[in-house]
Amino acid sequence: MFDYHMHSRVSFDGHDTGEAMAKAALSAGLKEICFTDHLDYDPLGQMGKLDFDTAAYNAEYDHLEIPGLKIRRGAEFGMDIHNVEQFQKDLLRRPFDFVLGSIHFVDDLDVYFEPYWSGKSVFQAERRYLEATLESVKLHNDFDVLAHLTYISKTKCHPAPRPLPYAEHHEIVDEILRVLVQKGKGMEVNTSGMDRCGGYLPTMDIIRRFKELGGEIVTVGSDAHTCSRVGQYTFQVCDILKDIFGYVCTFAERQPVFHKL
Ligand SMILES: [Zn+2]
Ligand SMILES: [Zn+2]
Repeated sequence: MFDYHMHSRVSFDGHDTGEAMAKAALSAGLKEICFTDHLDYDPLGQMGKLDFDTAAYNAEYDHLEIPGLKIRRGAEFGMDIHNVEQFQKDLLRRPFDFVLGSIHFVDDLDVYFEPYWSGKSVFQAERRYLEATLESVKLHNDFDVLAHLTYISKTKCHPAPRPLPYAEHHEIVDEILRVLVQKGKGMEVNTSGMDRCGGYLPTMDIIRRFKELGGEIVTVGSDAHTCSRVGQYTFQVCDILKDIFGYVCTFAERQPVFHKL
Protein backbone atom coordinates (compact mmCIF):
# COMPACT_ATOMS: atom_id res chain seq x y z
CA MET A 1 0.00 0.00 0.00
CA PHE A 2 0.99 3.60 -0.51
CA ASP A 3 1.16 6.89 1.40
CA TYR A 4 1.54 9.81 -0.94
CA HIS A 5 1.43 12.76 1.42
CA MET A 6 3.87 13.19 4.30
CA HIS A 7 6.15 15.81 5.82
CA SER A 8 9.51 15.22 7.47
CA ARG A 9 11.57 17.83 9.33
CA VAL A 10 12.32 19.34 5.91
CA SER A 11 8.89 21.01 6.19
CA PHE A 12 8.58 23.99 8.52
CA ASP A 13 5.92 22.11 10.49
CA GLY A 14 7.49 18.63 10.34
CA HIS A 15 9.34 16.95 13.19
CA ASP A 16 10.91 13.63 12.26
CA THR A 17 13.72 12.65 9.93
CA GLY A 18 12.99 11.23 6.52
CA GLU A 19 14.67 8.02 7.55
CA ALA A 20 12.52 7.63 10.67
CA MET A 21 9.36 8.24 8.66
CA ALA A 22 10.39 5.78 5.99
CA LYS A 23 11.04 3.14 8.64
CA ALA A 24 7.62 3.88 10.15
CA ALA A 25 6.11 3.35 6.70
CA LEU A 26 7.77 -0.02 6.35
CA SER A 27 6.53 -1.01 9.82
CA ALA A 28 3.02 0.08 8.83
CA GLY A 29 3.14 -2.38 5.93
CA LEU A 30 3.51 0.19 3.14
CA LYS A 31 5.29 -0.60 -0.11
CA GLU A 32 5.84 2.92 -1.39
CA ILE A 33 5.78 6.45 -0.01
CA CYS A 34 6.25 9.96 -1.32
CA PHE A 35 7.59 12.87 0.73
CA THR A 36 5.60 16.01 -0.05
CA ASP A 37 7.23 18.82 1.89
CA HIS A 38 5.65 22.25 1.91
CA LEU A 39 6.51 24.82 -0.71
CA ASP A 40 3.96 27.39 0.31
CA TYR A 41 3.52 31.10 -0.17
CA ASP A 42 2.14 33.48 2.41
CA PRO A 43 0.71 36.47 0.57
CA LEU A 44 1.00 38.82 3.56
CA GLY A 45 4.30 37.41 4.82
CA GLN A 46 2.95 36.98 8.35
CA MET A 47 3.49 33.26 8.84
CA GLY A 48 7.27 32.97 8.55
CA LYS A 49 9.08 30.80 6.05
CA LEU A 50 6.73 28.26 4.50
CA ASP A 51 8.94 26.80 1.79
CA PHE A 52 11.66 24.24 2.29
CA ASP A 53 15.36 24.74 1.82
CA THR A 54 16.32 22.81 -1.31
CA ALA A 55 19.77 21.82 -0.03
CA ALA A 56 18.19 20.44 3.16
CA TYR A 57 15.63 18.56 1.07
CA ASN A 58 18.31 17.00 -1.11
CA ALA A 59 20.44 16.09 1.90
CA GLU A 60 17.46 14.47 3.63
CA TYR A 61 16.30 12.26 0.77
CA ASP A 62 18.79 11.91 -2.05
CA HIS A 63 20.62 9.02 -0.41
CA LEU A 64 17.72 7.65 1.58
CA GLU A 65 17.13 3.99 0.83
CA ILE A 66 15.19 1.44 2.86
CA PRO A 67 15.13 -2.14 1.55
CA GLY A 68 11.57 -3.18 0.75
CA LEU A 69 10.25 0.37 0.44
CA LYS A 70 10.09 2.55 -2.66
CA ILE A 71 10.67 6.20 -1.78
CA ARG A 72 9.55 9.01 -4.06
CA ARG A 73 10.40 12.70 -3.82
CA GLY A 74 7.57 15.17 -4.15
CA ALA A 75 6.32 18.48 -2.85
CA GLU A 76 3.11 20.11 -1.67
CA PHE A 77 2.85 23.43 -3.43
CA GLY A 78 0.52 26.14 -2.21
CA MET A 79 -1.73 27.49 -4.95
CA ASP A 80 -3.48 30.81 -5.08
CA ILE A 81 -4.44 33.25 -7.77
CA HIS A 82 -1.23 35.27 -7.44
CA ASN A 83 1.53 32.67 -7.42
CA VAL A 84 1.37 30.90 -10.79
CA GLU A 85 4.75 32.24 -11.91
CA GLN A 86 6.49 31.62 -8.59
CA PHE A 87 5.14 28.05 -8.59
CA GLN A 88 6.69 27.51 -12.03
CA LYS A 89 10.03 28.88 -10.83
CA ASP A 90 10.02 26.68 -7.74
CA LEU A 91 9.27 23.61 -9.81
CA LEU A 92 12.77 24.00 -11.20
CA ARG A 93 14.45 23.69 -7.81
CA ARG A 94 14.97 19.96 -8.40
CA PRO A 95 13.24 17.06 -10.16
CA PHE A 96 10.08 15.90 -8.41
CA ASP A 97 8.22 12.62 -8.83
CA PHE A 98 4.94 14.09 -7.67
CA VAL A 99 3.46 17.54 -7.12
CA LEU A 100 0.47 18.08 -4.87
CA GLY A 101 -1.39 21.37 -5.27
CA SER A 102 -2.98 22.75 -2.09
CA ILE A 103 -5.10 25.68 -1.06
CA HIS A 104 -4.17 26.85 2.44
CA PHE A 105 -4.63 30.61 1.96
CA VAL A 106 -7.84 32.33 0.91
CA ASP A 107 -8.09 36.10 0.43
CA ASP A 108 -4.48 36.27 1.68
CA LEU A 109 -5.39 34.61 5.02
CA ASP A 110 -4.38 31.18 6.28
CA VAL A 111 -7.70 29.37 6.67
CA TYR A 112 -6.23 27.47 9.60
CA PHE A 113 -6.50 30.51 11.87
CA GLU A 114 -9.07 32.85 13.35
CA PRO A 115 -8.73 35.94 11.12
CA TYR A 116 -10.09 33.96 8.16
CA TRP A 117 -13.08 32.77 10.16
CA SER A 118 -13.89 36.11 11.72
CA GLY A 119 -17.42 37.23 10.77
CA LYS A 120 -18.18 34.14 8.69
CA SER A 121 -20.64 31.37 9.36
CA VAL A 122 -19.36 27.83 8.76
CA PHE A 123 -21.26 27.76 5.48
CA GLN A 124 -19.76 31.08 4.36
CA ALA A 125 -16.24 30.01 5.34
CA GLU A 126 -16.65 26.76 3.40
CA ARG A 127 -18.14 28.49 0.37
CA ARG A 128 -15.43 31.17 0.14
CA TYR A 129 -12.76 28.46 0.46
CA LEU A 130 -14.38 26.52 -2.41
CA GLU A 131 -14.64 29.65 -4.57
CA ALA A 132 -10.93 30.34 -4.05
CA THR A 133 -10.14 26.69 -4.80
CA LEU A 134 -12.06 26.92 -8.07
CA GLU A 135 -10.19 30.09 -9.08
CA SER A 136 -6.85 28.45 -8.27
CA VAL A 137 -7.44 25.20 -10.12
CA LYS A 138 -8.54 27.18 -13.17
CA LEU A 139 -5.32 29.21 -13.14
CA HIS A 140 -2.77 26.56 -12.23
CA ASN A 141 -1.59 23.80 -14.54
CA ASP A 142 1.62 22.59 -12.93
CA PHE A 143 0.31 20.30 -10.20
CA ASP A 144 -0.49 16.58 -10.56
CA VAL A 145 -3.12 16.06 -7.89
CA LEU A 146 -5.31 18.42 -5.86
CA ALA A 147 -4.51 17.79 -2.19
CA HIS A 148 -7.16 17.61 0.51
CA LEU A 149 -10.12 19.28 -1.16
CA THR A 150 -12.27 20.37 1.86
CA TYR A 151 -9.14 21.07 3.94
CA ILE A 152 -11.10 23.82 5.67
CA SER A 153 -12.99 21.12 7.57
CA LYS A 154 -10.00 20.20 9.72
CA THR A 155 -8.61 23.65 10.45
CA LYS A 156 -7.84 24.73 13.97
CA CYS A 157 -10.38 27.53 14.34
CA HIS A 158 -13.36 25.74 12.80
CA PRO A 159 -16.08 26.47 15.37
CA ALA A 160 -17.98 23.21 14.77
CA PRO A 161 -15.78 20.70 12.90
CA ARG A 162 -17.67 18.71 10.28
CA PRO A 163 -16.71 17.11 6.98
CA LEU A 164 -17.67 19.65 4.32
CA PRO A 165 -21.10 18.46 3.12
CA TYR A 166 -21.21 17.85 -0.63
CA ALA A 167 -25.00 18.29 -0.64
CA GLU A 168 -24.73 21.91 0.54
CA HIS A 169 -22.08 22.90 -1.99
CA HIS A 170 -22.57 20.43 -4.82
CA GLU A 171 -22.67 22.94 -7.67
CA ILE A 172 -19.31 24.56 -6.92
CA VAL A 173 -17.70 21.25 -5.94
CA ASP A 174 -18.80 19.85 -9.30
CA GLU A 175 -17.26 22.85 -11.05
CA ILE A 176 -13.93 22.19 -9.31
CA LEU A 177 -14.08 18.50 -10.22
CA ARG A 178 -14.89 19.30 -13.85
CA VAL A 179 -11.86 21.57 -14.14
CA LEU A 180 -9.65 18.83 -12.70
CA VAL A 181 -11.08 16.26 -15.12
CA GLN A 182 -10.69 18.59 -18.08
CA LYS A 183 -7.04 19.24 -17.16
CA GLY A 184 -6.27 15.56 -16.52
CA LYS A 185 -5.47 16.22 -12.85
CA GLY A 186 -6.05 13.84 -9.96
CA MET A 187 -7.73 13.93 -6.57
CA GLU A 188 -6.25 12.96 -3.25
CA VAL A 189 -8.08 11.21 -0.44
CA ASN A 190 -6.39 12.76 2.58
CA THR A 191 -6.92 10.75 5.76
CA SER A 192 -5.93 13.47 8.23
CA GLY A 193 -9.53 14.65 8.60
CA MET A 194 -10.70 11.43 10.23
CA ASP A 195 -9.47 12.34 13.70
CA ARG A 196 -10.03 16.08 13.26
CA CYS A 197 -13.50 16.37 11.75
CA GLY A 198 -14.76 12.81 11.40
CA GLY A 199 -14.32 12.32 7.67
CA TYR A 200 -11.84 11.99 4.87
CA LEU A 201 -10.80 15.10 2.95
CA PRO A 202 -12.84 15.01 0.80
CA THR A 203 -15.60 12.59 1.71
CA MET A 204 -16.18 9.61 -0.54
CA ASP A 205 -19.33 11.03 -2.13
CA ILE A 206 -17.08 13.70 -3.69
CA ILE A 207 -14.57 11.08 -4.82
CA ARG A 208 -17.42 9.07 -6.38
CA ARG A 209 -18.64 12.20 -8.14
CA PHE A 210 -15.11 12.84 -9.47
CA LYS A 211 -15.17 9.37 -10.99
CA GLU A 212 -18.66 9.94 -12.42
CA LEU A 213 -17.48 13.11 -14.11
CA GLY A 214 -14.59 11.28 -15.76
CA GLY A 215 -11.79 11.60 -13.17
CA GLU A 216 -9.19 8.86 -13.40
CA ILE A 217 -6.26 9.70 -11.13
CA VAL A 218 -6.61 9.16 -7.38
CA THR A 219 -3.97 9.04 -4.64
CA VAL A 220 -4.10 8.43 -0.89
CA GLY A 221 -2.15 10.40 1.69
CA SER A 222 -2.00 10.53 5.47
CA ASP A 223 -0.54 14.06 5.60
CA ALA A 224 1.60 12.73 8.46
CA HIS A 225 3.86 15.28 10.13
CA THR A 226 5.14 12.65 12.59
CA CYS A 227 6.10 8.98 12.34
CA SER A 228 3.07 7.94 14.37
CA ARG A 229 0.61 8.97 11.63
CA VAL A 230 2.41 7.49 8.61
CA GLY A 231 0.02 5.23 6.72
CA GLN A 232 -2.90 6.00 9.03
CA TYR A 233 -6.21 4.84 7.45
CA THR A 234 -4.56 4.27 4.07
CA PHE A 235 -5.55 0.60 3.97
CA GLN A 236 -9.15 1.50 4.84
CA VAL A 237 -9.28 4.10 2.06
CA CYS A 238 -7.93 1.63 -0.48
CA ASP A 239 -10.67 -0.82 0.48
CA ILE A 240 -13.20 1.84 -0.49
CA LEU A 241 -11.31 2.90 -3.63
CA LYS A 242 -11.32 -0.73 -4.73
CA ASP A 243 -15.09 -0.44 -5.21
CA ILE A 244 -15.01 3.01 -6.82
CA PHE A 245 -12.00 2.87 -9.17
CA GLY A 246 -10.55 -0.63 -8.74
CA TYR A 247 -7.10 0.94 -8.45
CA VAL A 248 -5.04 3.63 -6.72
CA CYS A 249 -2.24 5.73 -8.19
CA THR A 250 1.36 6.46 -7.37
CA PHE A 251 3.69 8.67 -9.41
CA ALA A 252 7.16 8.45 -10.91
CA GLU A 253 8.74 11.44 -12.63
CA ARG A 254 5.36 13.19 -12.67
CA GLN A 255 3.61 10.32 -14.46
CA PRO A 256 0.79 8.34 -12.80
CA VAL A 257 1.20 4.65 -12.18
CA PHE A 258 -2.01 2.67 -11.68
CA HIS A 259 -2.06 -0.14 -9.13
CA LYS A 260 -4.94 -2.60 -9.23
CA LEU A 261 -6.53 -3.13 -5.82
ZN1 LIG B 1 -1.80 20.82 3.07
ZN1 LIG C 1 0.51 18.32 3.83
